[in-house]
Amino acid sequence: QKLQKAHSSSHRPTYSFEFFVPKTSQGVQNLYDRMDRMYELGPQFIDITWNAGGRLSNLTCEMVSTSQSIIGLETCMHLTCTGMPIQLVENALKDAYNSGCQNILALRGDPPHGSESTSANGNELVPEFRYAKDLIKYIRAKYGDYFDIGVAGYPEGHPEESDIDVLIGYLKEKVDAGATFIITQMFYDVDNFLSWVEKCRNAGITVPIIPGIMPISTYASFMRRATWCEINIPKNFLDQLEPISGDDNLVREKGTELVADMCEKMVAAGIQHLHFYTMNLEKATVMVLDKLGILPEYIPEEDKKNPPLPWRQSL
Ligand code: FAD
Repeated sequence: QKLQKAHSSSHRPTYSFEFFVPKTSQGVQNLYDRMDRMYELGPQFIDITWNAGGRLSNLTCEMVSTSQSIIGLETCMHLTCTGMPIQLVENALKDAYNSGCQNILALRGDPPHGSESTSANGNELVPEFRYAKDLIKYIRAKYGDYFDIGVAGYPEGHPEESDIDVLIGYLKEKVDAGATFIITQMFYDVDNFLSWVEKCRNAGITVPIIPGIMPISTYASFMRRATWCEINIPKNFLDQLEPISGDDNLVREKGTELVADMCEKMVAAGIQHLHFYTMNLEKATVMVLDKLGILPEYIPEEDKKNPPLPWRQSL
């Protein structure tokens, strides 16, 4: 049963894709081909990661500019602030502005090892950029309301803070500083996510909350990423995936079913937008969208137009 048959078009979820920056210009060129193809899948936006400290910042800026102004995808640029020379922050924002990109995911990033006052290349760092909220304030002060600003949310805690209520307090500070949407860390425990959303709402956070979804490609990568992000793997995932762990095709098929079930449950609970961590790969994400029946080929022509971005819809 495809999802679009069960829901009217107004309840069909929209979706978006995250891409990370390859290490080389050649890798970027190869990724453009894939982005071109994935454009045909009708994502509402795509986002491009930022390497903490600003390594490869030129490639992120180039990709944001190409994707926004040449490929024509609504693009969101990630930007971290800790350990970042002020000039890199300035340049990145200016490049985004000049390319017409209006969406920034403002992040702290992870602090560099060693010296806190100068970056690896000796540039001056910005002492006031301690948390993501400091970057949000900076962007608002410099650019007013030009950018929509997203922030990271952690339904299962952050490696430096496991108390969910304390973290929700920090998330509220980010929204109060000017964030207009939230994208979450990946998770597989939907019940926990939905109760976390409710806690956020009860804490007065009213901006759109977008779930971050990591499709399952292989058993090893699934386990590695879940462990790295310190997230709970529900028992039914382990029960169903562990016995077939040696067969990548079976894992991908079963993983698709499990992830599509997650998505259906969230949509049934009122979540309208699904954000996929693609890991720069097409297949696993396409399989989930196919299973959900929300690929463009299933959508009647008159329904194809995307609604406004989640954070540009009136709540
Ligand atoms: P913050 O919200 O600033 O929080 C950082 C830590 O400080 C938390 O432990 C929090 O509890 C604590 N804290 C916050 N405010 C306060 C306060 N007022 N007082 C005391 N403590 C406080 N990393 C990258 O390098 N590049 C990326 O492109 C990238 N993209 C991401 C996308 C998403 C959707 C997510 C969820 C994460 C991403 N990350 C990325 C990882 C992120 O940079 C790390 O998780 C980082 O450790 C925290 O960043 P933050 O923006 O959430 O920080």
